[in-house]
Amino acid sequence: MKTTIVVIDILNDFVTGVFRNERAEKIIPTIKQLLNFARDNGVPVIYVNDAHLPNVDVEFDVWPPHALAGTWGAQVVDELKPEKGDFVLEKRKYSAFQGTGLDQLLRELEVDTLIITGLVTDICIQHTAADAFFKGYKIVVPEDCVEAINARRQKAALDYLKKAYGCKITRAGEIMRTKWS
Ligand code: ZN
Repeated sequence: MKTTIVVIDILNDFVTGVFRNERAEKIIPTIKQLLNFARDNGVPVIYVNDAHLPNVDVEFDVWPPHALAGTWGAQVVDELKPEKGDFVLEKRKYSAFQGTGLDQLLRELEVDTLIITGLVTDICIQHTAADAFFKGYKIVVPEDCVEAINARRQKAALDYLKKAYGCKITRAGEIMRTKWS
């Protein structure tokens, strides 16, 4: 079993920008701890970040403009900046697998298990978990490293991830106590 950590959309626009979310701010220190633990243990860290193109991206039929490629809103928050050796991919859809090369990278890294972290639980996390499930990856979701816009949506999404895709719902502390391969 080889594991990687995927970090989705911990971007300025999703924390303090256009989709300002105080619940998102609260998970940043825990994600930081988990990423540092992963780096110390040789576990690849893969960021997959919204980098939208204006006018063409289908999400803008539903949402206000956000995380436009090359802008402050599309940058990873200062506290969680990628470090040397991390991978950074860009996406234009909810799922981290859509048009990003993530699946190819995971195969090159010989990964079979994903720890999914980031924002938001009932949209980009859920769509990423769906694609990971269909492609045959095992999925772990630390509930203190993902967030939605409110507690109700967070709980509903975690339940769905568990029931629909067999995601193991756990916590960062539990992952850091697990023996890593
Ligand atoms: Zn988006």
